[in-house]
Amino acid sequence: MNVAERLQEIRATLPEGVQLVAISKYHPQEMIREAYAAGQRLFGENHVMEMSAKAESLPSDIEWHFTGHVQTNKIKFMAPFVHTIQSVDSFHALSEINKHALRHQRVINCLLQLHVAREETKYGLRPDELIQLLTIEPWRNLTGVHITGLMAMATNTDDETLIRSEFRTVRTLFDQVKHKFFADDPSFNTLSEGMTADYPLAIREGATMVRIGSAIFGERAY
Ligand SMILES: *Cc1c(COP(=O)(O)O)cnc(C)c1O
Repeated sequence: MNVAERLQEIRATLPEGVQLVAISKYHPQEMIREAYAAGQRLFGENHVMEMSAKAESLPSDIEWHFTGHVQTNKIKFMAPFVHTIQSVDSFHALSEINKHALRHQRVINCLLQLHVAREETKYGLRPDELIQLLTIEPWRNLTGVHITGLMAMATNTDDETLIRSEFRTVRTLFDQVKHKFFADDPSFNTLSEGMTADYPLAIREGATMVRIGSAIFGERAY
């Protein structure tokens, strides 16, 4: 199967209202063009310089999502064009993004990244840290950023029960946070979770956005 066929097969399994971000990290621009020609417009990357280089030569109606760890010294390179930064896990990062967005007179959408997986290495806010950030930090004053939802990754395991319970934890938190902090903001509506291995489970547990790489583009050559 080629990229267009794989995309079509995945799209056929997505319920209405679930958005697909094609994670194109490490894949060449040619493959992104193939996906673009097949109608895909949301692409995600984990490295700022790679994303910037791709954005420069690819069509400008692509919506770029950054899903890698936010390094504050790299924000300036993506601030002019990034649509959503999915991996914000501190107020410091949020205020740095805000600063750069304002310099470009832009509003950058941000998802707060949660850490619910068992792995030590994954970034993200613990549930209590998420609530703490939203409760004590002056995020409402940052007019250059707009918090539009949450992002999470489940543990990389074959244990479907564990994966489902992690996604359920995230969905419950999403609903709580929406009710408590975003009751007046209908654009807080994105729950980004689910990758190639677990996106069907994520959808069953209430994801509104899935991030799929290898099932579209094949294995990555690092
Ligand atoms: C690489 C990556 C994905 C996509 O992973 P696949 O298993 O290739 O679908 C999704 N989200 C994040 C944050 C990633 O780094």
